[in-house]
Amino acid sequence: MHDLIAHLLTERRLSQEQWQTLLAQRRSLDLDTLFALARAERQRWFGSRVYIRGLIECTSFCKNNCYYCGLRRDNRQLTRYRLSAETILACCAQGYRWGFRTFVLQGGEDGAFSPDKVARLVSEITHRFPDCAVTLSLGEQEEGVYRLWYDAGARRYLLRHETADAAHYRLLHPAEQTFSHRIACLHTLKAIGYQTGAGFMVGSPGQTDATLAQDFCLLQELKPEMVGIGPFLPQKDTPFGDAPPGSLEDTLIFLALIRLTLPGVLLPATTALATLHPQGRILGFQAGANVVMPNLSPPTVRERYALYDGKAATGTEAAEHLAELRAQLAPLGLTIAIDRGDAPQVLPDAGGVIPAEPCEPLRASAHTLSHHTPPERKDPLV
Ligand code: SF4
Repeated sequence: MHDLIAHLLTERRLSQEQWQTLLAQRRSLDLDTLFALARAERQRWFGSRVYIRGLIECTSFCKNNCYYCGLRRDNRQLTRYRLSAETILACCAQGYRWGFRTFVLQGGEDGAFSPDKVARLVSEITHRFPDCAVTLSLGEQEEGVYRLWYDAGARRYLLRHETADAAHYRLLHPAEQTFSHRIACLHTLKAIGYQTGAGFMVGSPGQTDATLAQDFCLLQELKPEMVGIGPFLPQKDTPFGDAPPGSLEDTLIFLALIRLTLPGVLLPATTALATLHPQGRILGFQAGANVVMPNLSPPTVRERYALYDGKAATGTEAAEHLAELRAQLAPLGLTIAIDRGDAPQVLPDAGGVIPAEPCEPLRASAHTLSHHTPPERKDPLV
């Protein structure tokens, strides 16, 4: 085993220099061993269970202008849409019948989704589906807004940091969007008590081993409960429309390294990965992922949420095809869990102890979590 992988396994962290060295050598790693280590860590924390999240893409309007994103405000080629509260609630009801116990409300930063409107929606979802978790992914907001939504019942928030290097951030975003505010948002979310998701694109324009080393350092310091990474995929109507996509192999290597750094993290095999390669999602699970977020949005709008070109929207990317997903997971020894699937670190009875398979205590207590303040995270191996 590579010395730095062995070090990572015992310490759960590397210095920035060590990360950069490891990342520079990633193509010469024994990937079978790396992925097996990642699967073993996942097994220790989650057993055979894979968590499903029903993704509802609420609005494709966005006030921002990120250079890589098809929803950017200057993209005039996009036919925009906004889902009504009734439609979103209907998506939740359908998802509940299919077995989803987490609903992810994702969208651009759309002024029409006002703080109060979102709060009412979250409150209504938690009222109608009390055994479900609501995850929000609605971009950068002020602390008061995040608190309002938390008080309404939201307990998780996804906000990819995109890059932990300020100069790289500047390359990916216009000056009106600042790296410091993005990072401050992540710390605010953690401080409020959200199970917080960070993450980055793999192979975004300007990304280097040095910027990636900073990404891993940020993750090991912030200790997010969820990490979303997926390959950068170009969208033709953006400034990066001609840039090459991120690499499948890199994405899988980084998934595994994140699993070794934050062993109890919730780690999706993303739609971008499934878009890049027909077997992307399965390969992601083989590299240590344990979450999948099928699309619960009305089928008529799925392709209009065009973050990037060619977005997978059918087959196992679609929430109505859970049976197909189940069949794909079975040969890997994985099963779909029908529960909220909270981060194990925040479970009151986890206590930093590695759960024994099949993790029944964690599952049994998962639904009681919504009003617990997350205790300080403890790494089970130190
Ligand atoms: S990445 Fe998010 S904030 Fe940026 S343009 Fe796209 S939807 Fe808006």
